[in-house]
Amino acid sequence: IPLDLLQFFSDLIEQEQETLGERHEVIFKITGNYKGFWGDRGLLQQIFVNLMSNAIKYSPNGGIVEFHLMGKESQVMFHIQDQGIGIPIADQKNLFQSFSRGSNVDTIPGTGLGLAIAKACVELHGGDITLFSQLGQGTKVTVSLPKRLPTGS
Ligand code: ATP
Ligand code: MG
Repeated sequence: IPLDLLQFFSDLIEQEQETLGERHEVIFKITGNYKGFWGDRGLLQQIFVNLMSNAIKYSPNGGIVEFHLMGKESQVMFHIQDQGIGIPIADQKNLFQSFSRGSNVDTIPGTGLGLAIAKACVELHGGDITLFSQLGQGTKVTVSLPKRLPTGS
């Protein structure tokens, strides 16, 4: 049976309260036709948790983090947007590689794996992931996933 995305993300957000913390305002929106999604729970969770933890970690207390999922006919798209420190342009193209980190995160701990994991999960799902960021303004990561997994045939 297809995954109920509204239920799935509501549960995940509840379950991830600790990651999300209480110092940010998380806006959670699901719109459009999100029915009929035959995706993998584990992959979806990896994508969400890695992107959400970045949005929280790289934005100040009190910052707004928005999660918006839009259901289309044959795919679902979502973005996670923050108002955090942003990423210098020169660093942006490498960040999906393992162990790559921005030059402005010296004092913030991390291993540089989250985006590489998220990208691998998105690709296993036959989807796309894109990052938009402005230094000092914030970051928006957009993911699109087909409602049906690629069959490989
Ligand atoms: P971890 O393996 O713990 O996730 P990480 O957060 O450093 O470590 P990635 O999640 O792969 O690793 O992110 C890579 C780099 O991209 C980060 O070090 C940071 O420089 C930049 N980055 C990712 N997301 C954001 C964001 N929302 N805002 C600002 N910078 C970000
Ligand atoms: Mg990370």
